Amino acid sequence: MDVAEFRRRGREMVDYVADYLENLEQRPVYPDVEPGYLRSLIPTEAPLEPETYEDIMKDVERVVMPGVTHWHSPYFYAYFPAASSYPAMLADMLCGAIGCIGFSWAASPACTELETVMLDWLGKMLQLPECFIAGTQGHGGGVIQSTASEATLMSLLAARCKAIRWVLASNPEKSEAEILSKLVAYTSDQAHSSVERAGLIGGVMMRKVPTDNSYAVTGDILKKMVEEDKAAGLIPFYFCATLGTTPSCAFDHITELGPICNKENMWMHIDAAYAGSAFICPEFRHLLNGVEFADSFNFNAHKWLLINFDCSAMWVKKRSDIIGAFKMEPLYLKHENQESGLVTDYRHWQIPLGRRFRSLKMWFVFRMYGLKGLQAHIRKGSNELNQTLLKRITKSREIHLVPCQLSGRFVLRFAICSRSTESHHIQQAWRHITQLTFELLQEPAH
Ligand code: PLP
Repeated sequence: MDVAEFRRRGREMVDYVADYLENLEQRPVYPDVEPGYLRSLIPTEAPLEPETYEDIMKDVERVVMPGVTHWHSPYFYAYFPAASSYPAMLADMLCGAIGCIGFSWAASPACTELETVMLDWLGKMLQLPECFIAGTQGHGGGVIQSTASEATLMSLLAARCKAIRWVLASNPEKSEAEILSKLVAYTSDQAHSSVERAGLIGGVMMRKVPTDNSYAVTGDILKKMVEEDKAAGLIPFYFCATLGTTPSCAFDHITELGPICNKENMWMHIDAAYAGSAFICPEFRHLLNGVEFADSFNFNAHKWLLINFDCSAMWVKKRSDIIGAFKMEPLYLKHENQESGLVTDYRHWQIPLGRRFRSLKMWFVFRMYGLKGLQAHIRKGSNELNQTLLKRITKSREIHLVPCQLSGRFVLRFAICSRSTESHHIQQAWRHITQLTFELLQEPAH
């Protein structure tokens, strides 16, 4: 493919993608294929001779699309949202074109510097404490990891390294292996499996903390477990809190848990993979109170913040904790500015060496939506919309409801009041509300 053909095919591809997304609801959301379906549709060997672009695109429809689960279909309600937007997709095209591997500042200064600034922008949207913001007097800063699993693993490994050094400082006779065998980490019994996995990979005990009746970890239970473990000669060193658990979106009580971790010299990491995007709205920000006690905080901007996968935002309070844990300095990666104190080399913040220019898609999305646009996306609806819906419900005279006000939000109450109400009445009422909502949302103003 030469540049002339690339220009033509590029335009065609944008049209293909736009058509795909515009007509997605017509495709079945879940594929009707059996395991192994694809192998029978393509040759067993790669082609010896070049094939045409037209043939490949035909096969996208023949081979690939029948086996795609369409995550962006309006009928997709599984797992969690995978964010997507046109500005992010365009930025990803540019990222592919620039194609730099920005593992150090020198490997592509713009890639590194834009990332640091974008994590500051996002950190400020979340009203993170200043200590997490790189462009301040603090010692913290942010990084893009691929996934929340990696962020948790990185935090656990950094905490492990810090704990071992700390114990060795006062007990130089102990071996690292001996200390490692005593380290114990904690997380909620509702935490995502990636947290337990981080413990397995990190070779440390991971204890599950039982949750209360709202599926949240409270301070007293963690305190009791930590005390028992210390009495048994173990070394508590890490706690992973969850804000927005996978099964029920429960929030651990980090305002109670944080001070315990700080007092016990335990690293507190916060996994807010799914729910974290909501904290950019002032009405949800209180759920993040207590983050000031955390050593690291992470959420997936690629879940709910209109930035396509992968973009898992992670902040640390003391960047030296993370950099110092994994520092390797082969000659071929060194550069003259690395000790200047002015630059970040993100290779020290992650497991792989290579990294893409992912901050471009943050930059495009943040600028094209603005904070207000991003907040509107999270809220997906307004008090006015609910007020109009209630007016229409009342006018229809088919069912009767009254509203209430909760934390500044206009909420429609659905109370089952009559002795004679049966299940079919509720179903009919629900169909009616759904129909009126649907009609309202179809109107151009909404
Ligand atoms: N943590 C929580 C609370 C999650 O809900 C999920 C996934 O849904 C994860 C971690 C794992 O996310 P990732 O795929 O980015 O590793």
